[in-house]
Amino acid sequence: MASRLQAAIDAQAQRVPQKTAFYNSRGESITYSELKRQSDALAHWIAKNDSITPKTPLVVYGHKSPLMLVCFMACVKSGHAYVPVDVVYPRDRVASIIGQLGPTVVLDTIGTIPQLLEDALERPCFDVTELQAELADELCAAQDATLEGVGENDLFYILFTSGSTGTPKGVQITTECVDNFSKWLMDSEFAVDEERIWFNRSPFTFDVSLTDMAAGLTRGDTLFALEDEADKSLALAFEALGTSDATEWVSTPSFVDQCLADESFDAQLMPNLKRMLLAGEVLRPETVRLAQKRFPGLRVFNGYGPTESTDLVTLCEITPEMLSADRALPIGYAKPDSQLLVLDPVSLEPLPDGEHGELFVVGNTVATGYWQRDDLTQAAFGCCPQQLAGQSRSYRTGDEVTREPDGLYYYHGRYDLQIKLHGYRIELGDIESALCALPEVHMACVLPSMRDGAISHLVALLVLADPNEKAGFALTKRLKAALRTTIPSYMVPRAFKYVDAFPLNPSGKADRKALAALITD
Ligand code: AMP
Repeated sequence: MASRLQAAIDAQAQRVPQKTAFYNSRGESITYSELKRQSDALAHWIAKNDSITPKTPLVVYGHKSPLMLVCFMACVKSGHAYVPVDVVYPRDRVASIIGQLGPTVVLDTIGTIPQLLEDALERPCFDVTELQAELADELCAAQDATLEGVGENDLFYILFTSGSTGTPKGVQITTECVDNFSKWLMDSEFAVDEERIWFNRSPFTFDVSLTDMAAGLTRGDTLFALEDEADKSLALAFEALGTSDATEWVSTPSFVDQCLADESFDAQLMPNLKRMLLAGEVLRPETVRLAQKRFPGLRVFNGYGPTESTDLVTLCEITPEMLSADRALPIGYAKPDSQLLVLDPVSLEPLPDGEHGELFVVGNTVATGYWQRDDLTQAAFGCCPQQLAGQSRSYRTGDEVTREPDGLYYYHGRYDLQIKLHGYRIELGDIESALCALPEVHMACVLPSMRDGAISHLVALLVLADPNEKAGFALTKRLKAALRTTIPSYMVPRAFKYVDAFPLNPSGKADRKALAALITD
């Protein structure tokens, strides 16, 4: 049986064939009938290709183009999970992901991956932009053939996120997870019976991007995204947004804050904007207030969820009462088919409403683990007491939360070194590993620098391998350039500080609290 999400998107090719399913600021667009036709053709081509091992996950490389969607759909139609890899990833990260996947192939939607990986790429790579003619023949030949798509318990996609030891880890999401998520959104308070155009801001490597695919494409709505320069320059982004007619907005709060900092971001620029779903990091009341001032009547929703529990597991509309209460905004009510447990992080005993504890997610919304990382899978997915989780899958989030008697959950921070910077999920250990791999560095500690209760940037504290090395601007510039070849630019710390030695805590580890004091002056 096909995935419900994929079947619902395909059904739009019958219902609204000429309607635009997706378009971007570069002017590329695709209708529902073309999305179906091209993904069917590519799926048949994949199924027939001898160099592609059946059922292996396939890498889809690119950014926010219609071809990415075609590839995602073609993968699941031909029984393969898709693994989005964004153009912002440097060569080493791309190589690490491809290496971990083993017998995968790469579907390249922009034609740059062979140059990017040069001779390091040992897997076949297909430039999908050049396949068009071949695919037209494929479709004619395959008119009557049926394909076996991904099944309910098969993987639908794998998203690689920052790993604490310097190697990205692949979160395995099944078809069932995606279908349940999509069903929830379609039934939720975010669903409305109107023509909608969604601003699909997040890269496909970030699970928030699934929100509008699951809620919008399945209903025959239109998705709009930023590509290239418009993705990097706010002025160009505003130009594109101004002509987008978008009615729905899905992004991180950081991106909205960035937009709100410019006074021209208002209802004059986007007169049709009605709803904003913000997710992925702390939503501040000031953001909501300012957004509602600039866009009178705007409804704002807060969504929370780790990649490991399929995008969002809580959601609520921010009401005037929530805004006027003297506390942080809630992250929402639980997704009905999942159980959210607040446990003592040490004893793993359930805690009563109102008490701070660690959030565990239980149910079919939880991923099946990390790709070929049993150690990490066991640590995060295997530790919820069985009397609480029963036979269901569970995930330990690392998030400190409270649940209130009215069913609303509140987020209070992390129990570990995972952070969100400008919406990106980052393990500080990931950056520290990359720093320690540089010959100039003996020890590294990366700390967030806070402003107005939010992380403004990262600071790297370093002990150099050669005490005689001249620490200064030239060295920092060289180290930053070296880092950019192994980790994405958004992970490279903005400030570098050099110290002779690290203060140590009683267990002999770098004393992060003492080091934090060094950067607050
Ligand atoms: P990701 O896997 O990139 O979606 O990141 C998941 C993590 O982001 C969660 O475990 C939280 O730490 C944080 N997060 C996600 N949504 C929210 C939210 N609405 N408020 C506060 N933190 C959030």
